[in-house]
Amino acid sequence: MVNPVVKVQGLRKWFPIKRSLLEIIHAKVEGFVKAVDDVNFNIEKGNVFVLAGESGSGKTTVARLILRAIEPDAGSVFFDNMDITKLDNNDLKKFRINAQMIHQDPYASIDPRMRILEIVMEPLTAYKIGSKKEKEESVMKTLEEVRLEPVNDIAYRYPHMLSGGQRQRVALARALILKPKFIVADEPVSMLDISIRAEILELMQNLQKKHEITYLYITHDLSTARYIGNDIAIMYLGKIVEKGPIDKVLLNPLHPYTQALIDAISEPDPNNRFVEKKIRIKNEMGKEIMYGGCNFELRCPYAMDICKTEPELLEVEESHYVSCFLYPK
Ligand code: SF4
Repeated sequence: MVNPVVKVQGLRKWFPIKRSLLEIIHAKVEGFVKAVDDVNFNIEKGNVFVLAGESGSGKTTVARLILRAIEPDAGSVFFDNMDITKLDNNDLKKFRINAQMIHQDPYASIDPRMRILEIVMEPLTAYKIGSKKEKEESVMKTLEEVRLEPVNDIAYRYPHMLSGGQRQRVALARALILKPKFIVADEPVSMLDISIRAEILELMQNLQKKHEITYLYITHDLSTARYIGNDIAIMYLGKIVEKGPIDKVLLNPLHPYTQALIDAISEPDPNNRFVEKKIRIKNEMGKEIMYGGCNFELRCPYAMDICKTEPELLEVEESHYVSCFLYPK
């Protein structure tokens, strides 16, 4: 990898399980949910790195750790070669100007009592950037960039007066206004109608090219991942089970879980960009006990005795890694 902007190394976050009110009062810990467990990946400058998996796989926790919304138990996150897990408050503030987040539900992430002008301006106000006139000009320019037009009308509306797609454009404008180098987009189109999704993804791609923005794109939907991503990591119960360039992983999925995710794409792909393996997995996620073996063992149709030990994430072809005993060293 030539020029990674973000390097995630050995990242770990385990949450204690507390079983009852009495146990909570006595802070009795019954074990841990391994939300993020030894996660490693790099994101190259100007690329879109996709983190995919079902809900509960740990992908949003990874995003929160990368933005230092929560502290890791172990590991490092390098942003432009600075370990953000060790930044003091001043440097953390600079990092947060450069690293923004777009949430899944634009309505939940913006204040419904504020006008669009104030919502998009808020980050500039929080970081004391520009005079009132400069801030207003910056908002208008950014609204134009995300194609919320006519800007003089949209800027004075309230969020409930906009469509879902327009509200997601507001969320994008709010993230862009600080001119960040890096944006974490957490399921940014999953709540939108299919017809609107492509428009928002295309807008994100255009902004990426224009401003050389690097994205971490979080999704459970491999069809949008294929549309926007350069590289992908598939997460399952806190671990990366497969990663590599997006075409290699989606056209030649090796891990049974990746194969199942591709199999679950309901819409037929007219361009045949996905290889369906017609795998049938057992049980639902969450029934597994993480005992130290392969996390996928109880659902996997190919499980073997050796799967009771933990498989390593190994490079099986150039830049294509998989964690599964079906692919020996
Ligand atoms: Fe299935 Fe074993 Fe591979 Fe895990 S390591 S995915 S249980 S074959």
